Amino acid sequence: MLATNGRLKIALQKGGRLTEDSIALLRSCGLEFEFQKPALFSPCSNFPLDILSLRDDDIPEYVQDGVADLGIVGENIVQEKRARVKVAEKLGFGGCRLVVSVPQRSTIRNVSQLRRKRIATTYPRTLGHFLRSAQIKAEVIELSGAVELAPSLNVADSVCDIISTGTTSKVNGLRELQTILYSQAVLIANPKSLRQPRTQELIERLRIRISGSLVARGKRYVMLNAPMKSLTKLKKIIPALKSPTIVPLAEEGMVAVHSVIGENQFWGVMEKLKKAGASDIIVVPIETIIK
Ligand code: ATP
Ligand code: MG
Repeated sequence: MLATNGRLKIALQKGGRLTEDSIALLRSCGLEFEFQKPALFSPCSNFPLDILSLRDDDIPEYVQDGVADLGIVGENIVQEKRARVKVAEKLGFGGCRLVVSVPQRSTIRNVSQLRRKRIATTYPRTLGHFLRSAQIKAEVIELSGAVELAPSLNVADSVCDIISTGTTSKVNGLRELQTILYSQAVLIANPKSLRQPRTQELIERLRIRISGSLVARGKRYVMLNAPMKSLTKLKKIIPALKSPTIVPLAEEGMVAVHSVIGENQFWGVMEKLKKAGASDIIVVPIETIIK
């Protein structure tokens, strides 16, 4: 829904695992704002955008109802709340899994043995959906938190909870049986806001900036010098967005090569380039890439 003041509203988690990365993402898009935890509203000074800080559980519904046009929240919450929102972009942070586990000492080895057992969770709908599709008739015990304690309290035989590494389960004396959902933070949008011309235009401008920042993440701009005669070899080694830029140097027989390389390929490519005759290799971070 178009805010009465003509500004877009985006909902972020007020204080939690997604907060820091969500703010960093918006700042990497050139947006300037002060994010103060106690404040519900943080206006952006250089873009018609207001930031709403909320509990993550409330974000999908607020975006669905048009209280905010956009939101950043985990896919796990979007799925669980079954909110009618559009996922506009996967954001590559806040990675986690929804996992069914049992106490270490349990005799249960796989999820099919959970028939007629009790499973404690804060994700009753997602778990219910999984159990139905796997045709497992189990009892879902809905809790509002501290799910990992349920087996020790004899409230449940198994738990279904979010983890990001396996360490937390081990610390809690649990053994993983099966992952039922992989999740990461996503940008969600209100379907009406996506249709109304004014909000649609602002959302698209913001989305282009966000995806530019995501594409640039993990990429580096590389500049190097090389003898003209090693160019054919170098071109085979060096990755690029389209193709590398090659410019002649003032020195006869030498060229400069500019390109974009993924962080993960960086060292491997560097070593090959050096062997092929490259020198004076300079690597700099990239702020954004607009395709
Ligand atoms: P709020 O007070 O906003 O309701 P919360 O305690 O429910 O916060 P957090 O623990 O901050 O939520 O987690 C927010 C989101 O971070 C999760 O919904 C999930 O998408 C993601 N996440 C990433 N790693 C983990 C993890 N190890 N455990 C739980 N959530 C994780
Ligand atoms: Mg929450």
